[in-house]
Order: sequence, then structure tokens, then C-alpha cells
Amino acid sequence: MVKKPHLKLETNIRYVKGVGPKIASRLAKLNIETIADIINHYPFRHEDYSQITPIELAQPGKKVTLIGNIKKITSNYTRSAKQKTIQTAILEDETGQIDLVWFNQPYLKKNLQPPKLVSVSGKINQRNNQLQIIYPDYEILNNKNEKIDNTIGVNLTKDTGRLVPIYPTTQGISSKYLRKIISLVLPKVKDQIIENLPLETLANNKLISKNKAILEIHFPENKKALHQARYRLAFEELLIIHLKKLQKKQNWKKQKNSPIMSKKIKVLKRFLYTLPFELTQAQKNAIAEITNDINKKQAMNRLLQGDVGSGKTVVAAVAALQTVKNNYQAVLMAPTEILAQQHYHNLSKMLQPFEINCQLLTSSHKPSSPSSKDLIIGTHALIHQYANFIQVGLVIIDEQHRFGVTQRGKLIKKAQIADKDNLFPHVLTMTATPIPRTITLTIYGDLDVSTLDELPPGRMPVKTYLVPSRKRQKCYQWIKSKIKKGHQGFIICPLVEESENLESVKSATDEYHRLSQRIFPNVNLGLLHGQMKSSQKENVLQQMNRGEIDILVATPVVEVGIDIPNANFMIIETANRFGLAQLHQLRGRIGRGNKQAYCFLFAQKIGKKAKKRLVAMENITNGLKLAEIDLKIRGPGEIYGTKQHGYLELKIASYNDIEMIKKTRQAAAKILTKSPNLDKYPQLKQTIYNGQAVKPLAQN
Ligand code: ADP
Ligand code: MG
Repeated sequence: MVKKPHLKLETNIRYVKGVGPKIASRLAKLNIETIADIINHYPFRHEDYSQITPIELAQPGKKVTLIGNIKKITSNYTRSAKQKTIQTAILEDETGQIDLVWFNQPYLKKNLQPPKLVSVSGKINQRNNQLQIIYPDYEILNNKNEKIDNTIGVNLTKDTGRLVPIYPTTQGISSKYLRKIISLVLPKVKDQIIENLPLETLANNKLISKNKAILEIHFPENKKALHQARYRLAFEELLIIHLKKLQKKQNWKKQKNSPIMSKKIKVLKRFLYTLPFELTQAQKNAIAEITNDINKKQAMNRLLQGDVGSGKTVVAAVAALQTVKNNYQAVLMAPTEILAQQHYHNLSKMLQPFEINCQLLTSSHKPSSPSSKDLIIGTHALIHQYANFIQVGLVIIDEQHRFGVTQRGKLIKKAQIADKDNLFPHVLTMTATPIPRTITLTIYGDLDVSTLDELPPGRMPVKTYLVPSRKRQKCYQWIKSKIKKGHQGFIICPLVEESENLESVKSATDEYHRLSQRIFPNVNLGLLHGQMKSSQKENVLQQMNRGEIDILVATPVVEVGIDIPNANFMIIETANRFGLAQLHQLRGRIGRGNKQAYCFLFAQKIGKKAKKRLVAMENITNGLKLAEIDLKIRGPGEIYGTKQHGYLELKIASYNDIEMIKKTRQAAAKILTKSPNLDKYPQLKQTIYNGQAVKPLAQN
């Protein structure tokens, strides 16, 4: 007799009995390639079929599990074209009978041929006074050909009579199929699932073992066991993120080769004195933190977050001032040409009186002379060869989430190489995308964070209205009257795709033509989209700035900081498709002057959830609060209105669970204090570096 291969966690799934290459390729779509993958494919919920109901107590409309004998099963043709055949079985227990009904599954006649003891689950339906279950889940309990493996030590059933796991599925892979495979492999590999968390962590946080958690997440004994399993696995997920982030922070702090920038108090005072406004307390705090940070040998790695208009630029200017006055170069990278130009314009004005030169560097604006030790402002073109850095002491990255990790890394690396002593530059990243505190704590756990949580005084919040379609024309009329009084504004075109593409350009162009021909024939309209040449864009923005354009029709690209003080109305089409944070940023483009600004949200045929979100836009002006609401209503993937931020996705934990996020952060810190490189916890280390801890490591 050939000995069957022993299943291991790392065994490819196609070697499992009944799987094979074809099903394996379908499973690959769920990122399932090995046995370890499939047992780590957690159900997103469980159907409660745990109570077994006597048939006589079955109530129409209720979901139940029944156990009984099949008395009879028939398969007949129907007259309907779609449902070609109907299978009807009679199920009987000591208390009564009920019909079970399927369509187009003639093989059931053979599979369920009496005598059979079965367990069935489903919703009770009433038809002509007769109770029935349509498409019940069923399991044969006494099939002689199938050995029942009870080594798993729990309830025998997997599809009925229990808390039944419901999985994320894909074409050709049902929850039922996943249950079948998982219940087949789990008993065989369960002893290979090893504990990867330190025992103290388990004890301190009352966590169940990994092994038990994996068994119970799939086939829980009861609700309490399920809860404990979820808790344990969610805890592990967050703990690992925190460990990675904290290790990153730890490593960064080892960089003790950065230039010490003395504070230059006199110049700083003079600079602040020349500003036409008083700093907000939040700006003062951030400036204190940053000027301290860069006054150290240890490299700064700080995130400055603050709502649109909270005044991050002046904070960045102070950092640049201190850097240049210490005889180092500062570099600022912005995500778009428009934004780079705007920064160049504003910062030049602010810093020129202090004999600091600014230089603009974008793909269409390359410097003619080599750079000196001043402030270079540019786009990602800064990463390229032709950008000449010398002794960079500070790297500032604006709208940092718009850049990939690699781009940021490249800029920093380049800055470092530019220094003859190989000094490591201080790094300041900035973002106007408000992120709920729980997410900041998690995904930015490697950074120090300064938050500008107040707007400069005197700003009038933008009045926002969700406009029903019947009032669209009225809204256009209102805008015409405003234009007559010299106001300007934006019409933001529908969000077609996540990124700016040809289709969204077409839609913006069409909308521009429609508006100029039919709605606003006597108004100066302009068009702005991401596929225009930067010189064209610049031209349009200058026209807008000079007041030669009344309404700028734009794709959502304007989101990224353009500053037109006289613009004070905005229409946003298909507002429901944007994330709240994104809507808030769009809205932040208006109301920058001293007139009341208005934002009109257009959205058609929206559901309850979307309505709720848009009503929040009407009532709430704080970006951070909006982001928190979006997190509650839509989940983390939508915070930015796009799914591209895949790193935000959690498998089982939730960003809404502030308690657990704090607890896991503390637990991670504790672990790293005991063993900074995790050598004391080899299983945990293995999980962090290789994903799943699959086999015991050789102890050394
Ligand atoms: P953001 O944080 O969106 O980058 P900016 O730095 O562009 O904001 O600032 C928005 C506007 O507010 C600018 O015109 C700036 O000059 C002004 N500003 C910044 N700080 C203050 C303040 N403390 N008081 C008044 N106006 C300020
Ligand atoms: Mg800004």
C-alpha cells in the first residue's frame, strides 16, 4: 500500500484530496495557495444554525436547523425555462414533516435516497399551507461511505446545526466548498499550528492559543468561543503591525548622523514678525517640536498633519529657514506641478527677505544654474539625475500619501548621497488628509506626529448643501447671479475612475461644452484636467487668479492644493462617489478669502448610507470628524475615496476598535523592550518576516 503523503502547512493546496490544479487556480484568486493559506482564510461571519428545532416548532420566516430522516425524494421536470427540474424531499422527525426543495440538482435524487439521517439548515417558507425550505444546506449524518473524522474535537457538522462559517468567496468556490476543504485539512494539520505570540502576551491579555483560535474561527463551539477566537486573531494582526512600525521607528532612531541645526532664535523671531498674521497655538506647538527635532543628531521623522488651510506651509518655511541658516540645503517635494509652483511662489515671498533663494525644479522647469545651499522646491522630478543636491539637511514631502514609499525613499537616499559626510537628512512629511486617530496610531506608528487641529481665526466655514436634482436649475441661476457680482467658483466633474484617465477627461470636456452652450452661454468658463500640459494648466490657473475665468470646470485634480482666494462657490457632481475626506479637501479650495463660500453637492439616486455621509458634509466642517464618520460608515478602504490604499485593509481587526489598538500598541512596545530584535521570540520574528509561522525554528 502506498503511504499517503503527510499534509503539511506549507503543502500546496492542489495536493489536497479532491482539489487538483483547476480548483487550485480558482483558490489562488482568494490568495490561497497552501494549506496554511486556507486555514488562515477566515470567515467574515457565521450563520447561527446552532439550535436544532423540532419540525413542529418551525415558524415561517425563521432560519432553522432540523435533523430528521429523508422519507422520499423526487425529481421532476418543470415548465419553466430557467428552472428545468425540481427536486422535492420530505424530511421527517418525531414531531412532523416538512418539504425540502431544490432546482436543477437531479443528482440529489441519488444522494439523498432514503434511508438517510440528515441535518438541514435554511429559512422556513410557507406555500399553500405547507412548510418548506428552498435550497436548504444539508449534511448527511449517517452515510456509511464517509468516515467522520472527529479528531477536531468539535461538533461533527460543518454546514448545519452549528455556527456555520461564511467565507469570502470567488467564482466557482462556494462557502460550502471552503467548509468542506477546511474541515478536511484542519484535523490533519492542527498540531502543526504553533504558538507565535509570547506567553506573557497571551497571559496578560487573556488570549487563547493560536491553535485553538484557528479551529474556533472556522468551526466555533459556541458564540463565546467564536468571540475569543476573533479577539485573539485580531489582537495578533494589530500587534504585528505595531511591532513592524515600532521596529522601523527604533531603527530610524539609530540614525545619529544628522546635522544639528541650531535654533537661530533671532532670525526666527524676525521671520514671525514679518508674517501678516499671528500663528495659531497649534502652529506654535508644531514649530517648537520641529525646531527641537532638527536640533538633534538623531534624524527627525515627523508627520505634520492638518486640515486644508490649517497653515502647514508656514511651519515648513520655518524648518527650511532654520536649515538654510545653518548652511544646509532644504528640499521640498510636492505631488503636482501646480502645487510645486504655488509653494515656490509663496515660499519665495516669505523667505526672500531673509536672503534665502528658492529654486523651482519640475520636469518642465529645470534649473539653468546649479543649485546653491538654499531651498529647492519641485515635483518627483527632484528624484532624477538632473537635480543637483548639495548637503541636504532637510527633506520636506508635501501631501506625502500621494507618493509611494519608494519615491519617498529615493528622495531621501539621494539627499543623503549629496552630502559629503554622508549625513542623514531630517525628514518632515505633511498631509492634509485627515486620518482618524486610530489609523494614525497604527499606520503611522513609525513616525512622530504633529497635528494642526485648529484653523486660523476668522475663517468662515463653507456652507454646504445637498441639492436635490429638481433644484439643479435653480442652483445654476443662483450661480449666475453671484457671477454678476464678481464671484468665481468651481464645478467639479463626476469621478469616473480612481485616477485621472482619458474617460474622466472626456467627461470633463463634455460637461464643459454642455455648460458653456446650454447653461452658462454668457459666462467665462475654463477647463482644467490632469492630461493638460503643465504650461496650459498654469495658464488656466493664472487666468482664474486674474478673474478672467468665472467658473473653472475641473476634474477632481483640483483637490490638490490650488489657492484662488476669490473663489467662493463650488458644485461637486456625483458627490456620493467621493470619500468624505476627499469631499472635504475639494471644499477646502473655496472660502479662502473673506467672503462666505457655498458648496453644492449633487448626487442622484443615492441610498441611505450615502445620504447619511452627505448630510454629515452639510453639518460638519472639521475634516478629522468627517474622516472618523467615514471610517464608521464605509470602512478604512474608503477613507481617501479610493481603494488604492490597500495597506489600510485589515483582515480581521478593526480600526474602529480604539481599545484594542491601544492595547496592542502597548503590548508591542513591551515586547520590544524585552527583546529589541525579537531574538527572544523566534516564532514571532518568523511571523513578522515570513508571514505565517509555519514550523518550529531550530533553537540555537
Ligand atoms: P495648508 O495647511 O492647507 O497647506 P496653507 O499653509 O496653504 O494651508 O495656509 C492657508 C492660508 O492660510 C494661507 O494663505 C496662509 O498664508 C494662511 N495662514 C496660515 N497660517 C495662518 C494664521 N495663523 N493666521 C491667518 N492666516 C494664516
Ligand atoms: Mg498645503
